[in-house]
Amino acid sequence: MDETATYFCDHCGEEIEASIDPSAGTQEYVEDCPVCCAPNLLTIRWDEQGTATIEARAE
Ligand SMILES: [Zn+2]
Repeated sequence: MDETATYFCDHCGEEIEASIDPSAGTQEYVEDCPVCCAPNLLTIRWDEQGTATIEARAE
């Protein structure tokens, strides 16, 4: 299972690498962008291969 995955900040467009917890399943949480400090609502999903996908929306 992936323990990191990347998303694109909905505010500044930078690619951000996030640490994620494979044991927690589908998750939603707010994380501040390390580049522009704006909050993104992240939705983390896993496929059958254990690959994580993060979808980011402006909070
Ligand atoms: Zn940003």
